[in-house]
Amino acid sequence: MSENIENNNHQDEKYQDICYICHRTEEKAGKMVHLPNNICVCADCMQRTFDTMNNSNFDYENMMRNMQNIPNMPNISMINLSDLANFTQTKPNAQKVKKKKPKDGKKPVLDIKSIPAPHKIKASLDEYVVGQEQAKKVISVAVYNHYKRVATQTMDEIEIEKSNMLMIGPTGSGKTFLVKTLARLLDVPLAITDATSLTEAGYIGDDIESVVSKLLAAADNDVERAEHGIIFIDEIDKIAKKKNTNQRDVSGESVQQGMLKLLEGSEVEVPIGANSKNAMVPLTTVNTKDILFICGGAFPDLEEIIKERLNKAASIGFKADLKDKYDNDPNLLSKVTVEDIRKFGMIPEFLGRLPIIYTLDALSKDMLVKVLSEPKNAILKQYQKLLELDEVKLQFEQDALEAIAEKALEKKTGARALRAIIEEFMLDIMYEIPKDDDIGTVTITREYIEHKGAPRIEMRSTERAKENQVQLAKAKP
Ligand code: ADP
Repeated sequence: MSENIENNNHQDEKYQDICYICHRTEEKAGKMVHLPNNICVCADCMQRTFDTMNNSNFDYENMMRNMQNIPNMPNISMINLSDLANFTQTKPNAQKVKKKKPKDGKKPVLDIKSIPAPHKIKASLDEYVVGQEQAKKVISVAVYNHYKRVATQTMDEIEIEKSNMLMIGPTGSGKTFLVKTLARLLDVPLAITDATSLTEAGYIGDDIESVVSKLLAAADNDVERAEHGIIFIDEIDKIAKKKNTNQRDVSGESVQQGMLKLLEGSEVEVPIGANSKNAMVPLTTVNTKDILFICGGAFPDLEEIIKERLNKAASIGFKADLKDKYDNDPNLLSKVTVEDIRKFGMIPEFLGRLPIIYTLDALSKDMLVKVLSEPKNAILKQYQKLLELDEVKLQFEQDALEAIAEKALEKKTGARALRAIIEEFMLDIMYEIPKDDDIGTVTITREYIEHKGAPRIEMRSTERAKENQVQLAKAKP
């Protein structure tokens, strides 16, 4: 018997307690209060219960006394704790949640508490993100200022403004990738949302505050961590003001309006462990004043607006330029002004809360070749590593890389097209190679990418034979 109990105790060490009221695990809700009969309640729920009892004028004592006086109260029965005991004791393990292993104390690359200088942040970004020099520079300075502001909360009269950002760049130019990399390097929680899914509260779709609950979930429900996190709102151009409409604009201008308070900093009540508020889910308060908001979008047709403005300015006065001077300007997007974006349909109040605006370039062929092979976790390096496990060497000819980049350019989806192209031709290689243990080296050529030939394959036995020959030749006097 005693052995049995000991066994049970040992088993329990592996499992977390779950709050009887809000069903959160010990890991999320913190230490539990253990009540008789194996019932656990988290500190939050305990406090909430006390608060409710204290705040209401209900006379519990009197009620209990009256209850005892009524002999068989019809249709009312009190909860019998011993019933619950049976339930909790027989609860199968499947309903319990296993404890996560404690995270090994890995330090983040960049520590937000002693935030490194902007050039160091940029150097870390350089290891992963190809090109986009201006964007990386701006983002490094903005992040540096933001976390400096967060770290030194004691501001005097000079309050530093929030460094929320607006990022403009074509699809596949690395907007999401840049933010993801940054969040990973800083080890802060990140929530990515699509602006198109947001609507004004009360309409079908996610309401605006749901972005904060996503961040809270990304921070494992740790409010303090969430308050230092990053929220990336993609496709922000899709909530531009609709032109010439008489209907209520629930997914455009009013979403921009609704986001104003969030961007600036306000206290938001968000449900814990759920996406929508309802009576069953406990709420917590998150302050958004230290959350870094980054909005991104492709802003199609913005170039037309910029061109129109520049042409207008150039055609006035003495030194009137040619009308089509800006027609083929590849850097047109980088000449964007707040006025252009306002014309596109973003409201001034919204833009006022995103003080940092920068653009990303469309990736050129050279940049695409670099994306393939240079970043720390480049796609090709990943395949090389995979084959290395089979002791096969994978090589790419420079010409083959260029062929892949050319194919990707045709698809006009930036670096996004790369993975699909590579996966297509790597499938056969990953399938065939493990069949033959003798394969030593595989070299991918342009012909193979263009479906005009096969990859070059060298066998281990011939390589060994060659090596022997070389060694023999060296050994000869
Ligand atoms: P978008 O600008 O549409 O948000 P993404 O950031 O999602 O584009 O880019 C898609 C993928 O392309 C990323 O996951 C990343 O692997 C790759 N990529 C895009 N731009 C770059 C870049 N500048 N450097 C390295 N990889 C990039």
